[in-house]
Amino acid sequence: MLEIRQLSVRYGGVSAVRQASLDIAAGEIVALVGANGAGKSSIMKAVSGLVQPSAGSIRLAGEEIAGMASHRVMARGVALCPEGRMILGTLSVADNLRLAAPRRRSFDDLFQLFPRLAERSDRLAAGLSGGEAQMLAIARALARGPKLLLLDEPSLGLSPLLFREIFHLIHSLREQGLTILLVEQNVRQALKIADRAYVLAGGTISLEGRAADLLHDERISDAYLGLQREE
Ligand code: ATP
Repeated sequence: MLEIRQLSVRYGGVSAVRQASLDIAAGEIVALVGANGAGKSSIMKAVSGLVQPSAGSIRLAGEEIAGMASHRVMARGVALCPEGRMILGTLSVADNLRLAAPRRRSFDDLFQLFPRLAERSDRLAAGLSGGEAQMLAIARALARGPKLLLLDEPSLGLSPLLFREIFHLIHSLREQGLTILLVEQNVRQALKIADRAYVLAGGTISLEGRAADLLHDERISDAYLGLQREE
């Protein structure tokens, strides 16, 4: 579904991603892991058209989308759920969803996936808990019925209970056939749920493979798994 080749992203003099190549097949969950500042969000932003790559190719179902404006990438079925929960606090939960996708995916459908949001549909989004706000951000991304979901740090700041709920949700989205690129600070959980994973270090892909193999790879456990909680 997605073929990224030799992708580079620069911000002025900062080289954030250097010649990264990765693939995502339809129906897969692919995890992108790495330390803070490794370039994970920059890859997401380049795929979704929010930053212009300085070099390289990004093909979505065979079509070149590198450098394409973000609304055109979205129209081709890519949705980004960015780090930091892009929701509109002064609007109700229902209006947040209405604005995200007029007439696309039905509310019933979305609320079935997010019963907590259904119960709070008339509340102002600003009054949601951190986890509920995260669910609303994901619901907004799903509202257009994307084929490829780019999920940036979905569990950031969540309690253990909501953490489990979010991962349960990601699992059920995959069951429904969605393709997911997942950036997640909890590397252990990301590798448990993903089919394959790429490790980014200093803007380059340093390791890639089946997630189940990487979970037991010493290079991963030494660098990323040491202090992480087991859920
Ligand atoms: P984190 O896990 O902390 O979110 P990340 O792996 O997603 O990090 P990026 O956000 O892609 O990393 O950042 C990669 C590098 O690019 C970092 O050195 C960062 O400081 C730099 N960077 C990111 N955005 C900008 C920007 N708008 N202007 C300048 N430098 C930037």
